[in-house]
Amino acid sequence: MSQDCIFCRIIAGDIPSKKAHEDEVVVAFHDINPQAPTHIVIIPRKHVSSLDALVPEEDGAIGHLVRVAAQIARNEGIAGSGYRLVANCGSAAGQSVDHVHFHLLGGRAMRWPPG
Ligand code: 5GP
Ligand code: ZN
Repeated sequence: MSQDCIFCRIIAGDIPSKKAHEDEVVVAFHDINPQAPTHIVIIPRKHVSSLDALVPEEDGAIGHLVRVAAQIARNEGIAGSGYRLVANCGSAAGQSVDHVHFHLLGGRAMRWPPG
């Protein structure tokens, strides 16, 4: 846990959030500034600053996270229409919180390429 990390503080319950899923490895909560009708952020409990800092020890957690994302998409009713799972890494990609996270976005048509 990093005291100055917003997402670690959400995991600890210091910052309230609307949870979509929680287990021993990952936590998922609704984004405070949604970019689609469904916008859920999924994070590993373990603090890792970005995709660029992942090590092989995290492979299981990240694999689990991706599968949980697919399950949340089914639960939220967006699996049939389609959805996007996005991870921003670094400043050019727009990463604003330095704790690895994936955005699950759905409920509207998505454009490609992304902005
Ligand atoms: P990034 O820009 O790093 O890819 O994504 C960070 C996301 O975290 C943003 O979409 C932002 O709206 C969301 N976020 C930042 N602070 C909070 C918060 O305190 N609560 C919730 N639920 N989402 C947050
Ligand atoms: Zn953190």
